[in-house]
Amino acid sequence: MSSTKQKLFLSLSAEAQRCLICSEMRDKTAVLSELNGSLDPRVLFIAEAPGRQGADRTRRPFWGDKSGENFQVLLDSIGLRREEIFITNAVLCSPRKPNGANRNPKKSEIKNCANFLRRTIDLIDPKIIATLGAVSLEALKLLENHSFFVRSHAGKIVSWNSKILVPLYHPSPQVIASHRRMDQQLKDYAALGEAISNLEAAARMKFDR
Ligand code: SF4
Repeated sequence: MSSTKQKLFLSLSAEAQRCLICSEMRDKTAVLSELNGSLDPRVLFIAEAPGRQGADRTRRPFWGDKSGENFQVLLDSIGLRREEIFITNAVLCSPRKPNGANRNPKKSEIKNCANFLRRTIDLIDPKIIATLGAVSLEALKLLENHSFFVRSHAGKIVSWNSKILVPLYHPSPQVIASHRRMDQQLKDYAALGEAISNLEAAARMKFDR
């Protein structure tokens, strides 16, 4: 990774951590730092927002809560290591209800944070993006429109903005219980594994020529 890329990322991350645009999250700090992963990842994952028990507490996406444990099982199923991926969120701060419980991010908050999502994708420039849930898939539309839905496109390899996109469900216990069971999510991740293998085999063939 170039030192320029690292410097630009540190500057972006500092800017995000100072950001106060969303009025209901002024007491929260954006989860965007070197703890989000590799700046030259095999896959860039985009989730919804940092969770209370997970990233907002540990500052590391999908770390410290049940969603993180489920995500680890899914990564392990295709041999993808944490140090080979980067994880960000459609909304970088943790949206909460007045009682402190997690809440869904508002459309206005997703729109406010789209600038950071765009700049993160542009800077990291991944070949493969995997969205985790409907919110992050919708958020991509703010950067470049598409017609994908998690319900119909989960586990499918599609193309978005000159990149390979694999929509996936969120690995939270609630989603696994009500929308996409773990055995189904494992099949979706197999498609992501296939996208990675195809891309890396094509790169090797090009290099060997
Ligand atoms: S969610 Fe994004 S836009 Fe909103 S305050 Fe946090 S960093 Fe800023």
